[in-house]
Amino acid sequence: MDLPVDGTRLRADIEANAAFGRVAYDDPTKRGRTNRTGSEANRAARDRLVERLEDAGLDVVVDAVGNLLGTWTPASADPDAAPVVSGSHLDSVPEGGIFDGPLGVYAALEAVRAMRDAGVEPDRPIAVVSFTEEEGGTFGNGLLGSTVATGALDETDALEVTDADGETLGEALERIGYRGDADIDPTEWEAFYELHVEQDTVLAEVGAAAGIVTTITGITHCEATIEGEANHAGATAMGDRTDALAAASEFVLDVEAAANGVVETTSESAVGTVGSLSISPNATNVVPGRVEAGIDVRDIDAESIETIVGATRESLDRLERDRGVETAFERPFDVAPTPMSDRLRTAAHDAAEDAGRTAIDLHSGAAHDAMRVARVTDASLLFAPSRDGISHNPREWTDWKDCAAATAVLAGALVRIASDDQ
Ligand SMILES: [Zn+2]
Repeated sequence: MDLPVDGTRLRADIEANAAFGRVAYDDPTKRGRTNRTGSEANRAARDRLVERLEDAGLDVVVDAVGNLLGTWTPASADPDAAPVVSGSHLDSVPEGGIFDGPLGVYAALEAVRAMRDAGVEPDRPIAVVSFTEEEGGTFGNGLLGSTVATGALDETDALEVTDADGETLGEALERIGYRGDADIDPTEWEAFYELHVEQDTVLAEVGAAAGIVTTITGITHCEATIEGEANHAGATAMGDRTDALAAASEFVLDVEAAANGVVETTSESAVGTVGSLSISPNATNVVPGRVEAGIDVRDIDAESIETIVGATRESLDRLERDRGVETAFERPFDVAPTPMSDRLRTAAHDAAEDAGRTAIDLHSGAAHDAMRVARVTDASLLFAPSRDGISHNPREWTDWKDCAAATAVLAGALVRIASDDQ
């Protein structure tokens, strides 16, 4: 079935949403927005979404952490059947792009409108969800709304998370009118699809309309501390030093070598990065006394993550022996790789074929709400092409026709999963 996805209507929704928290630039190729959870822009974006959902005949509810769900229950559907849900998030990073998040929310709504326009009669209700604080940075580290909804974080703990000004999430949501009392529970969903911009160049390189994610990469964050001895850069002879930064430099190269080693032998998709160094006292005329390093390790294969993390620890042990530094190691953040549902991936491939669109399998190197939802029900992540792979940046771009094409694939997949005979 070819669903009448209306690219103009979808574009109008995404552009209207982009106005909330819009950042103005002289350069016409930049279109940015800052939409932080609890801001006026966030309130306005939510208000408009509610309006658009209700215009399309969906019943809207809000839960305690501000997650928003609009449900379409056509006459054909059993209102008690587990719904098929799709969506993403409306918040953004500071000066983020206009597609990251809103495409998935408004594509889900457009899919419902297209089904309704085409007279599709699904057996299950279909719902559109917008999760709170996906990006993190304002309240916590990200995926907050989906983490609470799926039961991985206690609701009361989440509401107590504070922003930089000390306001709690609960207070912020109360202030903008989005601290609700509904129960939005993904364990009761039949399935969840999230359409998101790829934030990479694979789809554009092969000319595919949609990417169908096989696995969302696992992510580990480690913190290493290397303690040497701060000393006068002029008066301390080379042989008398315990230079923490010189040791850290070897550490950075060891992590890189470990990741390269895994890529060459066991898993091409593995990556390891020392992304941050904090040097103290960080003065030109002082031998560095202490370095804190932030390490990010990701892969779709759990074992290769462990291999790289293991090599990271071995590097620190070696530096203690070879350079006389003291080291400490912590692993504060660890999310295992998340495979996506085969049933949902098949439905998406079939939908792409039906719509005459090219879809390819790929993995996701970034975390998305679908990763949380996949812990409690069948979940699938679909990608639309990103120009030059740029994201979290006002230059983020997906052509409007590509938005519509990926939405057609999403819509077809939703129809399949929501229909008993497909
Ligand atoms: Zn996003």
